[in-house]
Amino acid sequence: MSHTLVLNSDGSPLSLLPLSVVLWQDAIRIIYTGSVTILHEYENWIVRAPSWQTHVPAVLMTTRYIKVSRLVGFSAEMVHLRDGYRCQYCGEQFPSDRLTLDHVKPKSKGGKLTFDNVVSACSPCNCRRGDDESIRPRTIPYRPTYMQLVARRRRMPVTVPHESWIPYIGWEPSLVTVDPPEGEPGLFLAKSEKRASSELVMQLLRTA
Ligand SMILES: [Zn+2]
Repeated sequence: MSHTLVLNSDGSPLSLLPLSVVLWQDAIRIIYTGSVTILHEYENWIVRAPSWQTHVPAVLMTTRYIKVSRLVGFSAEMVHLRDGYRCQYCGEQFPSDRLTLDHVKPKSKGGKLTFDNVVSACSPCNCRRGDDESIRPRTIPYRPTYMQLVARRRRMPVTVPHESWIPYIGWEPSLVTVDPPEGEPGLFLAKSEKRASSELVMQLLRTA
């Protein structure tokens, strides 16, 4: 569960893949480094320690512009996002933890684990296909660009913990649900991706 959106100094999210969000504990740590300013806070959420208290921030912005790489690294999550979380054999949509990676040219025949040889498949379809190359996926796999994947992500519903995020994240407002901090940001966001996001943001701020 992540609570605070981190923006670059130009007002766009520091990262869109994954969305640059951090846990409230990290958000408060970042504030004390002086590398961010607070744009929005949770009105009713105050964290108290013996000698201080503070509102938990909902949106932070870096004081200096941070250059972020837009290269897309290969991962199962990025393949599923490219494929719209749809099995490329039966066409059904699944959450990412119910999808597998299928080698279009089978591993046994030298097929590689790369964007241009792998598609999302549900387990039954992956089993049924096995090494049978006559069963073709619905789309030919390709290496997606960063912005293609961002556009894919933005077509999916998203749950955010605070309404102040909406103008910054670039989603159609009709696809955004605002849920209090207990909510899980990103309906399809895998747990591993959330962890990656928090680590990414912390790393970017350290190098700034
Ligand atoms: Zn399937």
